[in-house]
Amino acid sequence: MLEEEVETKVVEIKEDLQKEIIGLFDQLDLAKSISSPTIVVATGPTETKKFYEEVWKPDTKYKFEHFIVERADSSTVNRLVEICQKDDVVGILGIGGGKIDAAKYAAHIVHKSFFDLPTNLSSDWLASPKSVVKDGAEFFSINTTPPKIVFKYKPILLRCPPRHIAALYGDLSDKPNACADWLLRVFMEYKTGEKLKDEVYFDEVASTICVNALKDVSNVVKKMQKIYDETQIIFSHAHTLWPEIIDVAFNSAVTVGKAMSSLTPYSSRPASGPAHLCAHALDAKAPRPLIHGEGVGVMSIFTYNLRKKYADDYLVEKPFGVGLEDIVLPLRYMRAPTDAKELGVDDITMIDSVVYAAELGEKRWFNTFSYLKEFHKPPLIIDRRFAKDELKEAGLI
Ligand SMILES: [Zn+2]
Repeated sequence: MLEEEVETKVVEIKEDLQKEIIGLFDQLDLAKSISSPTIVVATGPTETKKFYEEVWKPDTKYKFEHFIVERADSSTVNRLVEICQKDDVVGILGIGGGKIDAAKYAAHIVHKSFFDLPTNLSSDWLASPKSVVKDGAEFFSINTTPPKIVFKYKPILLRCPPRHIAALYGDLSDKPNACADWLLRVFMEYKTGEKLKDEVYFDEVASTICVNALKDVSNVVKKMQKIYDETQIIFSHAHTLWPEIIDVAFNSAVTVGKAMSSLTPYSSRPASGPAHLCAHALDAKAPRPLIHGEGVGVMSIFTYNLRKKYADDYLVEKPFGVGLEDIVLPLRYMRAPTDAKELGVDDITMIDSVVYAAELGEKRWFNTFSYLKEFHKPPLIIDRRFAKDELKEAGLI
């Protein structure tokens, strides 16, 4: 395994973005004795490209080579690898959102340092060791070296669309569910004396971090909602608590990623629960791409509803104190989708996705669906009829 021990550092940029980033590259002695050290800067094709062109100036010490990532797919990774493997390339800086996973992956392949300057907070990928890239029609989540530094640049983060913060909330809402499934696996293994499929053993610290990442954001959303009830100030940039939610959302997104890279081998186990399985199934079945956290948020409503209905001695209704209402109300307040229609997905796709999620889970690790099929009394059959009835009952279709 090529997983180097990398503890991702978070550095907040105080004033001059480029000067402070270069100062850190110097502290790390990135240039070494290379005569023309080059930093490959990967951005998306639209806003992040514009942002880079506006703020980035030529520098005397480092040469910057701009690479535009149209799609995070394997051919982009290959082109990036070709550029980044040159001897004068000393580091790769990704500016943007999910697309720069292609750059993180390329940096990992060529064994060079990756630096992350996130411009939006729609999911918990920031400091994670995972890179999601597309190969043909399928998405792959690959273990890579986590970023060396994540730069926090508040002026750009404050512009993050409210829809993206709501999507991050949707992404985080699955964490208690994920950690409860992880623990459930331990209980069932103990009960049966059989080794259940999963390569990473339960880790209480990583679980607590991931559950708290949701709770921290929840607490600010609750405060925002209280202000809304009194003053009708909606969830937007204009909200007085906007800077606070950006801070908390950034920290939560970073800590979840760090929790994933604290495990050996790296694992998204505490971050990716049954709602993620359903959202990955939706990605495969839906005719157009969805915002990851929006799919997870809607499917969290489904999976917390399953917990509520089928709760028993092992499958707890409120994992780590988080129940269905704790998830639904903030999603509604933030104007996130809370059913299939708002998500823009038809009922048949939702039904197919639930059935497919249970199949995906079989290949992955022990989860709510495995429990319901094998250990629940009576055991349940997760077929299209089950999916339709349960989605209806959860108010999603
Ligand atoms: Zn996620």
